[in-house]
Amino acid sequence: MTFEKLFSPFTIRDLTLRNRIFSTGHMTNLVRDGSPSADLAAYHAARARGGAGLIIMESARAHASSLSDQPAINASVDACIPGFAAVAEAVKGTGAALFGQLSHAGRVTYALRQGRRLVTYAPSSSPDDRFHSTPRAMPTAMVEELAAAFGTAAGRYRAAGLDGLEILASHGLLAAQFLNPRVNRRQDRYGGSFENRLRFLRECLAACRAAMAPEMILGIRISADEMEDGGLTSAEAIEICRSLAQDGDLDYLNVTAGSMAGLAGSVHVVPPMQIEHGYVAPLAAAMKAAVSLPVFVAGRINQPQIAEGILAAGQADLCGMTRAMIADPEMANKAKAGRLDDIRACIGCNQACIGHMQMGVGISCIQHPETGRERIYGAPAPARPAKKLLVAGGGPAGMKAAAVAAARGHRVLLCEAGAQLGGQVLLAQSLPGRAEFGGLATNLAREMVLAGVEVRLKQSVDAALVAAEAPDAVVVATGALPRAVEVEGRDEAHVLEAWQVLQGSANPGQRVLVADWRCDWIGLGLAEKLALDGCHVRLAVNGPHAGQELQMYLRDHWVGRLHRLGVEIIPYAQIYGADADTVYLRHSASGEAIVCEGVDSLVLAQGHSPDSRLETALADCGVPLILAGDCLAPRSAEEAVFEGLEAGLAV
Ligand code: SF4
Repeated sequence: MTFEKLFSPFTIRDLTLRNRIFSTGHMTNLVRDGSPSADLAAYHAARARGGAGLIIMESARAHASSLSDQPAINASVDACIPGFAAVAEAVKGTGAALFGQLSHAGRVTYALRQGRRLVTYAPSSSPDDRFHSTPRAMPTAMVEELAAAFGTAAGRYRAAGLDGLEILASHGLLAAQFLNPRVNRRQDRYGGSFENRLRFLRECLAACRAAMAPEMILGIRISADEMEDGGLTSAEAIEICRSLAQDGDLDYLNVTAGSMAGLAGSVHVVPPMQIEHGYVAPLAAAMKAAVSLPVFVAGRINQPQIAEGILAAGQADLCGMTRAMIADPEMANKAKAGRLDDIRACIGCNQACIGHMQMGVGISCIQHPETGRERIYGAPAPARPAKKLLVAGGGPAGMKAAAVAAARGHRVLLCEAGAQLGGQVLLAQSLPGRAEFGGLATNLAREMVLAGVEVRLKQSVDAALVAAEAPDAVVVATGALPRAVEVEGRDEAHVLEAWQVLQGSANPGQRVLVADWRCDWIGLGLAEKLALDGCHVRLAVNGPHAGQELQMYLRDHWVGRLHRLGVEIIPYAQIYGADADTVYLRHSASGEAIVCEGVDSLVLAQGHSPDSRLETALADCGVPLILAGDCLAPRSAEEAVFEGLEAGLAV
């Protein structure tokens, strides 16, 4: 595939982008004291060197009323300028362009300061359904002050030498709140009529345009459909953009979907793997047909083939491939060189990118833990001297350790007892809508091939093999085994382990109860699989809600699917017993019994125990052991891959 469109230049005003790939503005938590940090500069520089045409830096706050303890860039003071300039310096020598972004959250924020919730300000006192914020309506003078502050902040981007600026009117943020007649119930000149509701954004744009250098690019990001009850519709978004385009201040429209005002719309802020690739493109196409401005689009465009298809169909002019480049900073260069098999495609798990952001830690990627840590792991030291490494286990931890060590120059032999590489990934990918998760294994397998790792399948590691191979070190990455739990009356009941259902090796009957201890993908996935197979499913979770360990957009979308399938979710439920057709649970807060009658099968998803058998067997073998992943303690694929990286660097 040649990617004729994707790698054709694109000109906006006098700025020519080298290709049609861009990174959308996204929060990284790589901000220190209100300014972009050296880590943020290194993070964007890696994507710019990797071939992106345009980087849009994360949104900065233009006004003090949008600041909280969250590590956001404070563009309301000049102190941000050196940080912006450092990112510009790091990015611009690479051939990529750099834009900034300005926003105000309005009502859609927790806005904490030292644990206290701050007062939020919005067009009207309209509460939202995600953050449960009841904002204060902004006085008219405050609205005017904010619009002016956007202009002052734009001047700081000019001073730092950026190529352009984007105002966020997307995702139910403040500008979108003004635009929306169901949210904006003001009586002054910023509310009521269509023109009045557009006035705030118009004034922001005019103030920015006045403060920016003439050659700088100015755009907006807008949700072409907020996909939320009461959110902006596609028709409204098009009408708004058509009107704004007539002013002449705007250079482009960056089309996305979703809104942070509710849980349904929030899913589309960073859509998870169950959502179709490139699904926002038809909305962008409708916008492009109605408004004569360049249109950018994003939303699950994780492979260059998908981007090329969107561009070739004329649905948009540029494709946002943010997570594609979080997972593989070199994605664009690899696509251009025709190295498609070498691209580490994003699998849409949301765990370490948006998931980390929501946990308040720096951005990363479960497949590529070097992301966000470029200054630590960006240039691994070559092996001095080259050694021989034996890796036991072909799951994510073992594969990452092998690939990293071999890429550094070590001789690496990886042995996997099973017939296939992947470990628990092989089970995860068998769940409905989770096939893409298998990419984690195929991507790591490819990295091993590129690094020259020798792989032996159906080969267990034991003391005899270690003696025969005489490695300098052994990486033990043997994973975990299902955790055995006591279930009273188990002998009278039909009890299955999760893996038996995942592998399709047992008949669960019609009425199934899944007892889910981990509250993660296993319980949700089992429940969905069984419901799709026609079973009546109850999902009893040992926590406040199903999927509580998952990133919220993934979780909420999944819980919505289960609801549609009629799965009954029982929270705060610990398993303790079963008989022929009844399962006995204990409410984990009250201790009271929860009795579930009419159950054909109880499926246990009770977590894992470390597989320590090899560690024990090799304890006295005289070769250094390095443990990585679930055999240390069962956790998720993110920890496994990260510990694989560290193991591969430790030799
Ligand atoms: Fe993609 Fe998951 Fe990596 Fe995020 S953490 S970039 S969703 S693979």
